[in-house]
Amino acid sequence: MSATAASSVFDDALRNLDRAFDYADIHAEAIERLKHPKLAIEVSIPVRMDSGELRLFTGYRVRHDDTRGPGKGGIRFHPGVTLDEVKALAFWMTCKCAVMNLPYGGAKGGVIVNPKELSHMELERLSRGFIQRIADFIGPDTDVPAPDVYTNSMIMGWMTDEYSKIRRQFTPAVITGKPIPLGGSEGREDATGRGAYYCLKEMESERDWTPGGITVAIQGFGNAGQAVARLLAADGYRIVAVSDSSGGIYRASGLNIPALIHAKEAGSHLAAIAADPTIGGDAIDNASLLALDADILIPAALENVLTADNAAQVRARHVVEVANGPVTSDADAILRQRGIQVLPDILANAGGVTVSYFEWVQNKSGWYWSRDQVHQRLQERMAAEYRSISTLAARHDIDLRTAAYAQALGRIGRALTAQGTREYFIGGKG
Ligand code: NAD
Repeated sequence: MSATAASSVFDDALRNLDRAFDYADIHAEAIERLKHPKLAIEVSIPVRMDSGELRLFTGYRVRHDDTRGPGKGGIRFHPGVTLDEVKALAFWMTCKCAVMNLPYGGAKGGVIVNPKELSHMELERLSRGFIQRIADFIGPDTDVPAPDVYTNSMIMGWMTDEYSKIRRQFTPAVITGKPIPLGGSEGREDATGRGAYYCLKEMESERDWTPGGITVAIQGFGNAGQAVARLLAADGYRIVAVSDSSGGIYRASGLNIPALIHAKEAGSHLAAIAADPTIGGDAIDNASLLALDADILIPAALENVLTADNAAQVRARHVVEVANGPVTSDADAILRQRGIQVLPDILANAGGVTVSYFEWVQNKSGWYWSRDQVHQRLQERMAAEYRSISTLAARHDIDLRTAAYAQALGRIGRALTAQGTREYFIGGKG
């Protein structure tokens, strides 16, 4: 799903800057700065495979901007990783951290690999090898990685351990999303899906929804997709379809989400689970899921799933971007024109980085919070930023994405302007 050079994900992501510029308190110079990542490195990682063979993997780390604080952003292990994609993901992190008013800039990393083909020992060697290569570019006060697609808390634990060995001191604040016994935070595991859920609860109260009357389709049933499905289902929302890379399951009366999560945890793919008469349903492919007649569509897999080719087929009234960049700018224009409301990724999936921030604060202070405290603080932040973006959108009669970017750009712009603009420098002395 990565873009080719002909359709750059990064260039597409930057289009949001120009759309939001008119509504944001930001200087044109600052917009220009945000169009160029501050640092981008490519590394090769030699890994001795279990067979004895030596394989070289390619990895990237991009720090997009660090004006408001250290770069922050996950590490993705996926065969489709490209530098262009990592740059786009880093840019979104800059905006996301500003949307949530976290004291961070944006960064991202990725390794071109299909981790499903590696043994656990190979995966550990690769994870440690990547940190050996990028150790000089990350750190608790420079650039703080976290999990992303096909990386998890155990991998973050190995990476933190490797960084600590290199620095010869235990440094938990270098990476977030760690296992709790290694300095992780309560509530990090499901924070991305939970953050989206808290936004949806705000939408519910704005629109007076009755959960039992609202149907939801979710593409991507991994960490984020499962968490939002579980929380919505527990409130009575009808989750009618979910999918993973193997395919999906549809049931008009609503799926048994806890049973599906249990089956996934036991190692099954959804395509296989669909055939199980106790918890299954009708098999559905990913393309049909995106066009389902559900009230809410939640893309929670990878980017570029709604494009100019299929946006006209979307029948949901709301699209909630739990994945990063699932809607291209062309598709966004089509959805806008058709009156379909999109809750943008830089707000909808910001719960993950927000609890990562909580984890970093706890690591730095050595003072750990309870799960209830994490949930409460996350709920407060998600609700507050959702309301402020919703109010901005209503005030200017603009869509939620433009409003979210305007909010982010205003915060980044004020930080950049505080260092001086053209007007200041040509304007005088002393
Ligand atoms: P994950 O690896 O846990 O799950 C990804 C899911 O997507 C899996 O179920 C996989 O089978 C499915 N998938 C992959 N390719 C697919 C395809 N072609 N069609 C349908 N499903 C497909 O990853 P995750 O952590 O849940 O991340 C999902 C998305 O959420 C990504 O875009 C990620 O950048 C974004 N996100 C995650 C976090 C986080 O904290 N985990 C935070 C912010 C954003």
